[in-house]
Amino acid sequence: MTDSLDSQPAPLFALQADAVQLDSLAALALPSTVSLPSGIARETVDVAGTDAGDIQRLTQARLGVASSLYVALRCKSVQSAAHGLRVALLSSGWATLLRLPEGLREAIEVAALLHDVGMIGLPDEVLRKPGPLDSDEIRMVDDARKMSVEILRNACAQPKVLEIVENTPAWYDGSRPGYSLRGDDLPLGARMIAIAEAFDAMTTDQVYRPAMSLERAGFELFAGAGVQFDPRLVNDFVEFQSGNLDRIREEVAGRWLRTLAPEISNSYWALTDSSNHTKDRHDQRFFEDRLLDNMHDAVVFVDAAMRVVRWNHGAERMTGIAGTSICDRRWTPSLLNIRSEKGAVISDEDCPVVSAITSGVQSLRRLSIGGRSRDRVAVDTHAIPVVDPDGAILGAVLILHDASSETSLEERCQSLHTRATRDPLTQVANRAEFDRVFELFINTHRQQRVPCSLIICDLDKFKRINDTYGHQAGDEAIKTLATLLKSSCRPGDLVARYGGEEFVMLCADCDNAAAARRADELRKRLEQTPQPALGGRSITASFGVTVIQPGDTSETMLRRADRGLLIAKEKGRNTVVQLGAGSDDSQGASTPIIWGQAAPGNNGCFSTELKTPMPLPVLREKLLGFVADHQAKVLHQDDESVVMRLENHGQPQRRRADRSVSFEVALTLSRRTDQQSVNNGAGKRKIPYSCIHVAIHPRRPRDRRREGIEAAAREVIASLRSYLGATESSQSHLTPIEPVEPGPKAWWRFW
Ligand code: GH3
Ligand code: MG
Ligand code: MG
Repeated sequence: MTDSLDSQPAPLFALQADAVQLDSLAALALPSTVSLPSGIARETVDVAGTDAGDIQRLTQARLGVASSLYVALRCKSVQSAAHGLRVALLSSGWATLLRLPEGLREAIEVAALLHDVGMIGLPDEVLRKPGPLDSDEIRMVDDARKMSVEILRNACAQPKVLEIVENTPAWYDGSRPGYSLRGDDLPLGARMIAIAEAFDAMTTDQVYRPAMSLERAGFELFAGAGVQFDPRLVNDFVEFQSGNLDRIREEVAGRWLRTLAPEISNSYWALTDSSNHTKDRHDQRFFEDRLLDNMHDAVVFVDAAMRVVRWNHGAERMTGIAGTSICDRRWTPSLLNIRSEKGAVISDEDCPVVSAITSGVQSLRRLSIGGRSRDRVAVDTHAIPVVDPDGAILGAVLILHDASSETSLEERCQSLHTRATRDPLTQVANRAEFDRVFELFINTHRQQRVPCSLIICDLDKFKRINDTYGHQAGDEAIKTLATLLKSSCRPGDLVARYGGEEFVMLCADCDNAAAARRADELRKRLEQTPQPALGGRSITASFGVTVIQPGDTSETMLRRADRGLLIAKEKGRNTVVQLGAGSDDSQGASTPIIWGQAAPGNNGCFSTELKTPMPLPVLREKLLGFVADHQAKVLHQDDESVVMRLENHGQPQRRRADRSVSFEVALTLSRRTDQQSVNNGAGKRKIPYSCIHVAIHPRRPRDRRREGIEAAAREVIASLRSYLGATESSQSHLTPIEPVEPGPKAWWRFW
C-alpha cells in the first residue's frame, strides 16, 4: 500500500471531503470563545490572543514544564494553540461525563492540548494559507501531525498520551493509509479527540467556510460514523454537546486551576492597567474599534508582511468571510476574487494593497469582488499605505465601498428598522412591528441568499424581581436589557419587545454560530451589569437562537427559537441554546415534482425518499422538533411510522389565500445499509443510514391551485430535510402515487 493520497478512501458524504480539511486544517481552526471561571477571570480567549495570561495560567496548570511546548505552538499559530485548548476542555468534560478513570482523562487532556504541536514545523505559507490546501500541502500537514508524536516522544514519560496523539488522525474503519489500528483497537482517547476536534473545526469560522451550526456539525459527525469516527461515541458526543458547553468548559478550567495549580501568578495582570498612558491608549482603541465596526464600508488592514491584521464588520458583511477566520492570514487579491471592471482577474502585482505596500502610493479604483452570495459586487476601492514617522511602510489600509446600484441588503433592512414603531417603555420596536418586519426580513435574506438569525431572550425569575423590588425597579431592569440589546445591534438588525420581559432580535446576514456567539456575549454582559434599581445586584436572561433554514416560515423559525429558549430555561437558565441546522449549500436544487393525473375532487399525492446518517432514535427526536415547530397534529405513530397533519403550510411570501394548504404527511422510517467499496484493498464496507419514505397528501384540494400546493409541498420536504439532516436519496424523485379519497384514515393506503 502506498502512502499516497490516491489510495485514500473516497469521500462518503460531505464530511469526508471536508474531513481531509478537518484533519489537515485542524491547525487552522480558529478559536471561538472559552469562558474561564468567575473569580479567576471572566474574560474570553479571543482570536487576537489578548488574554494570553489566562491561557498561560491554564496551560501551565495542566502541562507544567511542558507548557513551553504549548507556548511554542502559540508563538507559531495562535489558532492552532487555541484549537488545542478548546478540544482539551471539551474532551475532558466529555471524559468526566463518561466517568473515565482519572488517569485516562488526564492523558486525554494533555494529548488534546498538544496534538497539534508538530505544526511548529509547518511552513507559514501552508499554515497561513487563506484557501483550501492542495494535495502536497495536505501531505505536509499530515507530516506535521506525525511530528507532534516525535516532539512529544522526547519529553513525554506517559505512553498513553503518545498512543492517543499518534492515533488521533486514524479512521475508525482503518481505511486511512499510514495507520494500522482500527475499530476498538484504537485508543479510546484517540477516538474521542478525533470527534471533538472535528466538531471544534466545524463549529469555528474557517477562511473557506463560516462556522457550521451545532446541529449541522452533528449531522456531519453522524455522516462520518462508522467510517471516520466510532459510531457509538458519535451518538454519545452528540448528546453530550447538546448540554451546556460553556459551563462544562468553565468547570474543567476551574478544576485545572484549583487542583493543578498551587499558585496563581498575578504579575501579568498587574502590568496591564497600571499606567494612565496605557489607559488612554486603551480608550482610544475603543473609539477606533467602535468607528471601524460601525462603518458600512469594508475596512481591511494589511501589515508589511502581507498579513491581514484587521477585518471590520463591514468587510464581514460584504465578503461573508469572518474576521476571526481571516486575521493573521496572508493577503492576496484572490481572497476576495478581485476583478477589474472589465472582469479580468487581478494579479498580485496589480493588486491595490500590494502596490500601496510596495510602492507607497495611494490608489482609488472601481473593481469588483466575489461577494457574500457569490454574485459579484462592484466596489470602489481605496488603498492607502501606512507609513511610520521615519518613512518605513508598516502596511496598508483598504477601504471597500459597495458601489452596486441596487440598494444593499443592509440599507433595505436599515430602512425597515427606522420605520419601526416603538415600545413606549424601552423605545425598541413593538411586537406588531416585529411581526410585520420579520416576514420582510426573511424574504429579503432569502432573495439575497444569505443567512439571517433570530435571538429570543427572556429575563430569568423576573416575577421574583418584581415581588422583591417592586414593579418600577422591574421596569428599570427591562430597560437595561433593551439598551444592552440595542447596543449590540449592527446595521440591518432589529430589536423588539415581544412581551413583558421577553425580547427578540433579528440578526441580519448572520449565521447560527455567529448569532449564538452574540447571544452569549449579551448573556455575559447582562450578568455582569449591576442594576442600581435592584440595589446593585445583577439579573440574568436565557436565550434561544436559530437561523433560517430551507422550508422555514416566519412561524417555524420563531417557534424553533422559542423552543431553544424553553430548553435554556430547563437547563437552569442564564444560558444560550442554539437550534436549527441552517442551509446546506451542498444540497442541489430540489428534484422536479412529477404530478400524476388527479382524480376529480382530488389533487393526488406524491412521495419521495429521504436518507440521513442519523440513527433512528435521534431521528425520532429531531422529528419531535419538526412537529413542535410546525404545530403538526400527530394522527398516528409507532416505531416505524408517523402520520401528521400540517395546517396552513406555505411559503412566507405567498399571498394569504395561497397559504391555506393543509397536508397529511406520512413518514415511514427504516434502517438500511449501503455497500461501498474501499480503494485501499479493504474490500467493501457497510454504511448504515436511515431511510424516510415521505408521502404527502394535500387536503382541501378544490380551493387551491396545483402550483400553490406543489410549492407548499416542496417546502414541507425542504423543511423535513433541514430538520432531519437528510438528502433526497439519489434514486428518488417526487412521484405521484395512487390518488386516494381524502379521509381520516386515508394515510394507511400510502404504503
Ligand atoms: P422564568 O425564568 O421562567 O422566565 O421566570 P419568570 O418569573 O421570569 O417567568 P415569566 O417569564 O413567565 O414571568 C414574566 C413576569 O414578568 C410576569 C410579570 O410579573 C413580569 N412583567 C411582565 N411585563 C412587565 C413589565 O412591563 N414591567 C415589569 N416590572 N414586570 C413585567
Ligand atoms: Mg422570565
Ligand atoms: Mg417571560
